[in-house]
Amino acid sequence: MRKQIIQTSSLVLIGLLLLASVPAINAQSENNYYVSMENVDAKQESVDSLKNVKSFNSATFTIKPTEFNNAVNENKIIILQLMGEDVALNLHETHVMGDDTKVITTDEKGNMVLVDAPDIRTYHGKVVGDEDSQVAITISNNLLAGMIDVDDNAYYIDVTKNEIGGKNIHIVYRAKSVEFDLTDGLLNDTDEGVDYDSRFEYYETSDNLVLTSRAMTSIKILPCYDRHFKNIYGSYALAEFEIADMINTANLGLDDHDASLTFDYYKRYSYLDSGTGQEIINFFKNDISPYRDITGSDLATLFYGQDFEDTVLGMGSTYNGSSVQAYSVLQMVAGTGSYGATYPERCIVLTHEIGHNLDSRHNEHYEWIATPYTYYTVMSPSVIYNSTHRVRTVFSDGDVYGDATHNNGAHIEACKDIVAAFRT
Ligand SMILES: [Zn+2]
Repeated sequence: MRKQIIQTSSLVLIGLLLLASVPAINAQSENNYYVSMENVDAKQESVDSLKNVKSFNSATFTIKPTEFNNAVNENKIIILQLMGEDVALNLHETHVMGDDTKVITTDEKGNMVLVDAPDIRTYHGKVVGDEDSQVAITISNNLLAGMIDVDDNAYYIDVTKNEIGGKNIHIVYRAKSVEFDLTDGLLNDTDEGVDYDSRFEYYETSDNLVLTSRAMTSIKILPCYDRHFKNIYGSYALAEFEIADMINTANLGLDDHDASLTFDYYKRYSYLDSGTGQEIINFFKNDISPYRDITGSDLATLFYGQDFEDTVLGMGSTYNGSSVQAYSVLQMVAGTGSYGATYPERCIVLTHEIGHNLDSRHNEHYEWIATPYTYYTVMSPSVIYNSTHRVRTVFSDGDVYGDATHNNGAHIEACKDIVAAFRT
């Protein structure tokens, strides 16, 4: 008798489970958003930034920004098919660009004009089921770029100017197929002179900020680029897409310290002269300063499309509490040395130089070993990316990535609100 009751209720239970599981399965598939993409052939020599990449795939993407954005905001799982594998992502929108972002340029008479920036959306997130992963994705019409850092072997997705069927060809590769090594005496920047007295004063005032401020600070950046940079990507829209994406990826390193870069303007330059890193940053500081003022930006960065005429890959003003030190210039093309301007290399140079603007120091970068790699945080003075060494786009934090004397995160947290008040 008793047994029978159990059996009956078990049947009921099984029935309920079946009822429950049917809609659950439907909900599961409805909750996936598959990004439409098609594999295509591309030649390595057709893309300059593949110099240091051993193997890659090529694809075109069919992306409708509004549809993709709705899928993210409905908490759908975004699925990309990368190098033969389904990669499932949980994303949230990061709003790196303002809703009404403009481009400062000139008309044919040489007068300054503002034009609308392209529709670009940015996201951060995680690979489903991997809380240690880091994801930064940027999309626009039929464009998708970004970094999916998972299993110690990040995926990089980048756009090229080459087209097929009216769509831009993208390249997809993994960290293990990238190799470069700039340890042969190359520093990736030369710090500008610092007034140590004013720096010391800043320290006195910033201690209070450390104690009281943990809110997310939005630092306004004015991204600028020259015609050579535009030519790498073939169009202004693609150049601007690429910049938004690199900034979104750099923000992964700043997120942990409650800071993020955002922007409301781009500034286009025509062809700029060639020069050393120092010459270019000297020109840029002078020239861009009034634009930084009128756009209400805290920092200004030049994405430079030529090889600096020295070994410099980037220069960022060292923070001293004054908006005089609000500038950086970045080499965004492969050099005559081993720098290949791959996606990770460019993001490291950007994050590193912004780090200098935010008071991060070389001597507080952190190194740790996780076999088979020795890792460095992003303020490492050398950019290394080979079979045994990796630079990660994170800052030392005094904890997981550091100790008491290796804590660039604390410097960022101490100065971020001062930098975010550089705008006038
Ligand atoms: Zn540096």
